[in-house]
Amino acid sequence: MNCPYCGFTDSKVIDSRDVNDGIRRRRQCLRCDSRFTTYERFERASLFVIKKDGRREEFNREKLLTGIRKACEKRPLDSNTMSRLVDDIEAELYQMGKAEIPTRVIGDIVIARLKSLDHIAYIRFASVYRQFADITTLKEEVDSLAGDTIKHSADQLPLLPMEELPVQAKTTRRSRR
Ligand SMILES: [Zn+2]
Repeated sequence: MNCPYCGFTDSKVIDSRDVNDGIRRRRQCLRCDSRFTTYERFERASLFVIKKDGRREEFNREKLLTGIRKACEKRPLDSNTMSRLVDDIEAELYQMGKAEIPTRVIGDIVIARLKSLDHIAYIRFASVYRQFADITTLKEEVDSLAGDTIKHSADQLPLLPMEELPVQAKTTRRSRR
C-alpha cells in the first residue's frame, strides 16, 4: 500500500484493531510521516445464486434485505433486527461452502428464520416465494400458527387481510407440525 500523500512504498503500523469482519490499521509513511488508515478484510469466495429459470447471478445482500424489508413492512421489527437477520442468513449461506446455491434454498432459509421471528412476515415472504400451492395450503399454515399461539379452533379463524389475523407477533413457541 503506497502512501496516499507522497506515493512512498513503505509505512509502519502505529495502531491495529479488529473491526467487524477484518482489521483496521493506522499507518505512518516512512518518508513524509503522513498518517493513513488501511482495512484488511477476509476475502470471501464469490457466491452465485441459481434462479428458477436457470440463470446465475452473483449473490446480492441488498436484494435479500429488500425482500425481507418488504415482508416485514409495518411489523414491529427495527432495521437492526432485519440487518442482523440478513447477516445470519449470509453467514449460513457461506458456511454451506458452495459456489452456487439455488434461490429455493435461500428462500427456505429465510422462511425458516422469519417463522421464528414474526409470523406475519413469515406468511408474507412464504407467499411471495410460492411456498403455498394454493389458498387452502396457506390457510392450513395460518391455522396451525394461530392455533399454536392462541386457543382458537380452526373454524373460528376468519380469512381476513393479513394485518387483522389474530397471530401473535412475538411468540417464541413454534408450530408443532
Ligand atoms: Zn508519504
